[in-house]
Amino acid sequence: MLDTDFFRRWMTVTAASVDREADRLTALDSPIGDADHGSNLRRGFTAVTAALEEESPETPGAVLTLAGRRLISTVGGASGPLYGTLLRRTGKALGDAAEVDERLFAEALRAGVDAVMQLGGAAPGDKTMIDALVPAVDRLADGFGAARSAAEQGAEATTPMLARKGRASYLGERSIGHQDPGATSSALLIAALAEAEG
Ligand code: ADP
Ligand code: MG
Ligand code: MG
Repeated sequence: MLDTDFFRRWMTVTAASVDREADRLTALDSPIGDADHGSNLRRGFTAVTAALEEESPETPGAVLTLAGRRLISTVGGASGPLYGTLLRRTGKALGDAAEVDERLFAEALRAGVDAVMQLGGAAPGDKTMIDALVPAVDRLADGFGAARSAAEQGAEATTPMLARKGRASYLGERSIGHQDPGATSSALLIAALAEAEG
């Protein structure tokens, strides 16, 4: 079972890892974007950590909906509404239970990823965060370690892709040969699950 503390740890571990990797995320956003992905997410997850301390949400669902709302209100750019929707929709799908089992979490995260696809219009293969998130959700039944490997491979697999969504799509063929920053940060989010599990 996954309790409220697990979901808090998921968010704080993600915040620490985004903070550590912010320069790399921004560097990836430089050739195919506007070089702000690391700073966008750092601002967002710092605000998430602060909100969790201020408001002490008491259920897994409340932790994720609060985190999602905070990302939407603090991160400008494409990634704020997209990550915000991911966490808010996942949180909503968890309902108000005090603990959730791994299977319910996997279903909820799938609902979150579906909501991101609906909002942004991206499908697998479009060179976005979806290319890390979909493989991760597909492997979640095999545990957080398996999901993490799938997300990391999914992020790496964006390098040869042609971008069809977001700023990178403005570059057309020139987007080929660069790893997508959002897929890379999504792999950090999924990797944090394994770390939060301890
Ligand atoms: P911005 O492009 O507004 O500067 P960020 O740099 O923070 O925002 O985020 C860029 C990332 O957002 C991309 O690498 C990509 O993974 C993701 N992204 C952009 N547009 C979409 C979309 N329509 N659907 C899914 N993900 C997207
Ligand atoms: Mg950017
Ligand atoms: Mg930007």
